[in-house]
Amino acid sequence: MTASLTDAKSAELFARAARVLPGGVNSPVRAMRSIGRDPIFVERAAGVDLLDVDGNRYVDWVCSWGPLIHGHAHPEVLAAIQDTATAGTTFGAPTALEVELAEEVARRVPSVEMLRMTSSGTEASMSAIRLARAATGRDVVVKFAGAYHGHVDGLLADAGSGLATQGIPSSPGVLPSAAAATVIVPWNDFDAVEAALREHEVAALIAEPYPANMGLVPPEEGFLARLRELTEEHGALLIFDEVISGFRVAPGGAQELSGVTPDLTVMGKILGGGLPAAAFGGPRELLERLAPVGDVYQAGTLSGNPLAVAAGLATLRLLDDDAYLRLSETTTALATGLREAAGDRPVQVVSETGLVTLFFRDRPVRDYADARDADHEAYGAWCRGLLARGVYAPPSGYEAWFVSLAHEPDHVARTVEAAAAAFEVLG
Ligand code: PMP
Repeated sequence: MTASLTDAKSAELFARAARVLPGGVNSPVRAMRSIGRDPIFVERAAGVDLLDVDGNRYVDWVCSWGPLIHGHAHPEVLAAIQDTATAGTTFGAPTALEVELAEEVARRVPSVEMLRMTSSGTEASMSAIRLARAATGRDVVVKFAGAYHGHVDGLLADAGSGLATQGIPSSPGVLPSAAAATVIVPWNDFDAVEAALREHEVAALIAEPYPANMGLVPPEEGFLARLRELTEEHGALLIFDEVISGFRVAPGGAQELSGVTPDLTVMGKILGGGLPAAAFGGPRELLERLAPVGDVYQAGTLSGNPLAVAAGLATLRLLDDDAYLRLSETTTALATGLREAAGDRPVQVVSETGLVTLFFRDRPVRDYADARDADHEAYGAWCRGLLARGVYAPPSGYEAWFVSLAHEPDHVARTVEAAAAAFEVLG
């Protein structure tokens, strides 16, 4: 591990990129602005060994922001993609593989009897909301401050992730009417949820059951169960956005872990095994409101794309009970190591199977306001220190570290060592 890295080729690519791609990137957080540096261009990766275009090697804790639960270029996932590709890459007609994937998801996820596939989490949450509005005949959607459900117009208000990083509360270009149909409440604040449901005719309450786009801020004891009770009482649908938590915190996601079953579930990331695939699902009576059976329109040229479906199936089939045990052990080892490396510094290390976040703050974080109160400048400096020591951590204090099954004890040890050294430099 080196204490500094050369980045001449990344810098050269970034200069070219900035002329043809806004900010030099195709998705904002990659630009690494919030940690005060330019982006790193990737050459290739295997497992969690990431190589950049300048020849620097990193232990990757981003893993493409979640899809790669088995690490990069897993041989079985690659083989599934290659085998499928030789038979053609897309048909715009049904295939057996998408039926198999749907059956596999329905078997794992408690709320899902049927599902509709999309190409991104954004589309899946947008369509789930359309379906919820159609099913209830109501307009208003309640979301939590700091929760991110993709760049859907009405859901950008007070979203975390890249918006938190860039300090954009919403976005120009979003119609006031779209934002007006969204009511924002603080996470873990039951009274605020109750008031919102009382005061508005709510179509759906959408929640990341284990929010990970303001950093990881788990639900307090009983919070998800009370969301279920309250939405039922007020005739609103409960939507769990499990794009991150799905197939990660447990085989059936946060709904299996908590025993709370939502009406609709949004999925993505692991579902597509590193290729573009997402979905929303629920009971037959809701899902059959969708065209062509029902009147709610939803479609996609590449929805259920054979390559993405093959990658997703291969990924899910490798996720047996033993995999979750190992994922949980690695997560605990990383969280414990980072806590020890931080020593008595004001740092909170939060974790759930497959996810870890560090908040540079002296008190626990229970909502978005607390997450914003953390010292994000210090996180940025520490994160630059990690990169210089060969550890690629999320370049934003509002994101989670994505633990994978390719992370071995040696990766954890190297990371903890680099973390301790980077803390030392911070003072
Ligand atoms: N929901 C959650 C919880 C997410 O974390 C994300 C993306 N990080 C999305 C939705 C949007 O998914 P996509 O980027 O595939 O549109």
